Amino acid sequence: MARIISDACVSCGSCEGECPVSAISQGDSQYVIEADACIDCGACEGVCPTGAISEA
Ligand code: SF4
Ligand code: SF4
Repeated sequence: MARIISDACVSCGSCEGECPVSAISQGDSQYVIEADACIDCGACEGVCPTGAISEA
């Protein structure tokens, strides 16, 4: 399983540095999580100011 980022993302970038496996990157319109790389640790979810990250 992997966390996913919804369209509530405001591209603040806070989550990117929290990911231990560098699964988060900036996409065209918002940040995205690479599902194959995500180990579902949850570290990114806690830092998101808009609650855009959740379990898939
Ligand atoms: S849940 Fe963990 S591994 Fe997955 S994107 Fe967030 S910080 Fe990275
Ligand atoms: S912390 Fe939340 S709002 Fe900021 S880039 Fe990540 S998903 Fe988007």
